[in-house]
Amino acid sequence: MKTKGKIGTGYNQLRWVVLLLAIAVVLPTGCLLWFMAQVVNNERLAVRQKLISVYQEQLAKSVQQTNERWSRKCKLLELQESGRHPYQRLVSTVGDNGCEGLIIYDATGNRTYPLLSADGTSSIEASERFPKAWVLEFLDRRFPEAIAAYEQGMEYADDSTRLAGLIGKSRCQAKLGRTDEAIETCRQAAFSPLEEEADAALLVLIANARLLMLKFMEGDTEYNELVQQTLSKLISMVYSANEARLALPADQNLFVAQKIVEIGRRTSLFDTDTGQAYKRMQKLIAAEERSIRLAEQFPTAAAVEGWPTDKLQRLLSGQELIHGLYHKSDGESLLALVSGEDVASTLAAYHEDFRDSYVACRILDDAGSFISGLAEPEGEPFADASVGEYFPGWSIELYFKGGDVFEQAAREQIAVYTWTGMLVILLILIAGAIAGRAVSRQMKLNRLKNDFIATVSHELKTPLASMRVLVDTVLEGNYRDQQQVTEYLQLVSSENERLTRLIENFLTFSRMERNKQAFQMTRTDPAAIARGAAEAVKTKFANRHCYFRVEAGEDLPDVTADRDAMVTVLVNLLDNAYKYSCDDKRIELRVFAENKSVCFCVADNGIGMSRRATKKVFTRFYQVDRSLARRAEGCGLGLSIAKFIVDSHKGSISVSSKPGEGSTFVVRLPIANHVG
Ligand code: ADP
Repeated sequence: MKTKGKIGTGYNQLRWVVLLLAIAVVLPTGCLLWFMAQVVNNERLAVRQKLISVYQEQLAKSVQQTNERWSRKCKLLELQESGRHPYQRLVSTVGDNGCEGLIIYDATGNRTYPLLSADGTSSIEASERFPKAWVLEFLDRRFPEAIAAYEQGMEYADDSTRLAGLIGKSRCQAKLGRTDEAIETCRQAAFSPLEEEADAALLVLIANARLLMLKFMEGDTEYNELVQQTLSKLISMVYSANEARLALPADQNLFVAQKIVEIGRRTSLFDTDTGQAYKRMQKLIAAEERSIRLAEQFPTAAAVEGWPTDKLQRLLSGQELIHGLYHKSDGESLLALVSGEDVASTLAAYHEDFRDSYVACRILDDAGSFISGLAEPEGEPFADASVGEYFPGWSIELYFKGGDVFEQAAREQIAVYTWTGMLVILLILIAGAIAGRAVSRQMKLNRLKNDFIATVSHELKTPLASMRVLVDTVLEGNYRDQQQVTEYLQLVSSENERLTRLIENFLTFSRMERNKQAFQMTRTDPAAIARGAAEAVKTKFANRHCYFRVEAGEDLPDVTADRDAMVTVLVNLLDNAYKYSCDDKRIELRVFAENKSVCFCVADNGIGMSRRATKKVFTRFYQVDRSLARRAEGCGLGLSIAKFIVDSHKGSISVSSKPGEGSTFVVRLPIANHVG
């Protein structure tokens, strides 16, 4: 019942410990798993938010860059305004690559470019100046008379009439086949020194003379040099003003420029050049054409007055779509025509900025119509912004490509969390296992202590009780004679000796447990150890039921050992040999050297033990016969103490035994020189 109760209490204790340990491990593990699940969920949201804010920042940066780029462009327009001739401004803005035309208004709102011949250039038709010559030339086709009429009309006439007369005269000479004369006559008009002070009307006449001259010289290699001269003079006229800051009206300028390109192509004028001049001329022509076309739509500044400044407006120029940028400065205002290419390059910059595997962008105009980018987006945009302050109403939208984009981004982060969580769980489990081990060790130790106390009290009780009975008997005078008293006292002495050994064993065990056992290692003669042990058991073994023999060689090598401790080992072994032998005891202690070791061999002819028991005898508190009725006294510590001492000497202890045939214990100690 008692044992059952003890087991029951131990079991309960264990249950509690296991329960507490389980809580200590399972609870944080569970919490951690729950926390990890939450983290995984939140991570997706967090990653989404993070990505959104990153892209929003990038979007804001792109918009700012666009704004800066366009504001630089506007500043450029401003710089070009300061007192320069409209043609100079056209050339530089078109050269600036992006401007595709220009309409300039002065402070009063009147258009200063493009100005057309019809806009007030006072040109008098040749037919009016030379009515007679005109009829003779074109109707009657009487060219000599026409020449005379032209010459007559030129006398005492003004510059423009004179130039017109020269042109008419040369035309008639050419028609008569007198090309050389015609060229010479025309040259007087074409190379007129009046050019630098000429007004628009005179300039038109000079330009016409030059064109006519080129026509006369066409195909005649003789005039190559003159052709070149004429052509370069003609080229210098277009898109530029003379010293009097006067230039050809825009329509005339355009006509002449087109003619130059035509002639240039025929005479390979532009081939000799790098091709750049040709391209530049083409661009200027296109820009001027466009400017003239739109000038009809916006004849004065009033037509664009209400426009927001420096903002792109979509305009329709013929079939093509073009953008107008209305810019105003101190005295003047202008409408710069911006190419679709330039707008496209701005939009392309956005697409470039958002070209990655996660997002796609889509650009819409002020009417909300799709312009470029992702044509059919899925879901709602996660970020949007205005394309820039120069694109009023235009917007850019950012979409995430595919739904699993967050999964991808979150997966890496989740993996980090999962691994960290796993590691923490592993650490908790390891800590739990260590704690479990420590607790179980502690419990084992407790059990050991309990066993120890139980054994100690049991083992002490017997000798104490017998000593008390013997002493009481003597004290009460219950003895026959002095010899019986001596016998009793001898018994008391032997019980005392047993008790002393028992207590010594307990003390050694206790010191051993606390790791406090200190050995005095000295070079020792093994035979002396054997003699010491034999001396200790001499009295006990000296009876007729016991035959005890000690055999120790003369020249045994020394061992490094604590003599007393080694005596204790041998006494324990001899004691056991005595205890576990029947009446006719034959006990032998042999000491001999073998393989660099000294062997102490204790053999008996006692009860022996099973193979299984031989493996356990060195375990603390192990006893083959645990019954209370067992004959031999002891507490199962002797052999474990012996093993502890031998191990501390870097030696070994072993047993060979068979039930009923006796046992042989062998202790091996390394000889002194070989102690590592
Ligand atoms: P105890 O105090 O019980 O003798 P020991 O540690 O000395 O403790 O021995 C452990 C057990 O080994 C003993 O209880 C006994 O059963 C067995 N034993 C020890 N020596 C012998 C031996 N010479 N012959 C048979 N059994 C032995």
